[in-house]
Amino acid sequence: MVTTSSEPVIIVGGGQSGLAAARAALSVGLRPVVLHAGVDTVGSWPDYYDSLTLFSPARYSALPGMAFGGADPDRHPTRDEVVAYLRRYAGSLDANIRTSVRVTAVHPRPGTGYMVSTDTGDEIPAAGVIAASGSFGNPHLPLLPGRENYAGQVRHVAHYRRPEPYAGKRVIVVGAGNSAVQVAHELASHANVTLATRAPIQFVPQRIRGRDLHHWLHVTGTDRLPRAVLTRLVRHAALLDTGVYREAIASGLLARREMFTAFTPDGVVWADGSSEVVDAVIFATGYRPNLDYLAPLGTLERGMPRQVAGVSTTHPGLVYLGLEFQRSFSSNTLRGVGRDAACVVAALAERVSGATPRRRWLTERLPVRR
Ligand SMILES: Cc1cc2nc3c(=O)[nH]c(=O)nc-3n(C[C@H](O)[C@H](O)[C@H](O)COP(=O)(O)OP(=O)(O)OC[C@H]3O[C@@H](n4cnc5c(N)ncnc54)[C@H](O)[C@@H]3O)c2cc1C
Repeated sequence: MVTTSSEPVIIVGGGQSGLAAARAALSVGLRPVVLHAGVDTVGSWPDYYDSLTLFSPARYSALPGMAFGGADPDRHPTRDEVVAYLRRYAGSLDANIRTSVRVTAVHPRPGTGYMVSTDTGDEIPAAGVIAASGSFGNPHLPLLPGRENYAGQVRHVAHYRRPEPYAGKRVIVVGAGNSAVQVAHELASHANVTLATRAPIQFVPQRIRGRDLHHWLHVTGTDRLPRAVLTRLVRHAALLDTGVYREAIASGLLARREMFTAFTPDGVVWADGSSEVVDAVIFATGYRPNLDYLAPLGTLERGMPRQVAGVSTTHPGLVYLGLEFQRSFSSNTLRGVGRDAACVVAALAERVSGATPRRRWLTERLPVRR
């Protein structure tokens, strides 16, 4: 069934995914309304740790339609540069963006379309919904025996900002990906740190033949490979490295051990059966999609959306953006989300017939709060 486009398409979330979705929706003549829980349409970037720099150079870190900018396109921008870029990007879109509005539920309507409920008390009829609410709000912590009796500090890396509070402490960082190793490396000059991983770390060189890896991902098309192909090439979490992390581990500056098996009341039990007193454990063990508001649709399976390439397999007119490996290796990145946005919005537009010509609905915008 096809819905009528006199109603807006609701985009849930005003991060890079929501903004890319808004731009793509505008380009096909849909009426996007972005509902964003935060006060500033920069997604979760301000909440990432202070020392974060992008894995990709500025030239490969832009959303569609606006270059990242700055003097050196080969630099790796800081977190705050990304925040400033997204703010500029949101400002450049002629889109209806409503901030400080959290979507609390999406209900199906008899026949077609959706009713979107918000924490401001609005009930908004929608021709379609683009779930672009990220995963940072849903950090994943693995269940380990004894955790409930452990008296030390257990944190997800989502709540880590800087190393100083850990000065002089015995800390374990769990994980083998970029966040885990970046944070462990930064902590190593303040605390006694061990990186705990299930498998050996798989290093991927940041530079190959004098060019950043992202250049090669781009020119070879690897960036666009679907998960099924890529996981045959890369089996474990891979760590982008200029050589600094490999050297830190090889020199013993940063210790690595096989993942511990359980907590004790004051520490952990290592895989070899020995136990050790530990002050804090930081889990860099990933995130899960943050989609509770879709529960009324019954479309989630153990919290994960039922979808193919970002298009719901259960609900016509419902699409997703920013899921990890949604279509490719780069789906959940600044450089990749624009490609996915074009695809899911094209799928959505097919469900929403007779889209109002762009010229007309630009004059019908709801008040914008930024
Ligand atoms: C530590 C870290 C480092 C990363 N480094 C890189 C990197 O170097 N390069 C790169 O390209 N990518 C990187 N990423 C991955 C990715 O680009 C970011 O996670 C990015 O922020 C994802 O954007 P998003 O818009 O999908 O989600 P988010 O940035 O999380 O934005 C979603 C927004 O939706 C809002 N929201 C959530 N629920 C609701 C609701 N119910 N109603 C309304 N609003 C809601 C939230 O407030 C949030 O601001 C990194 C991720 C992390 C965690």
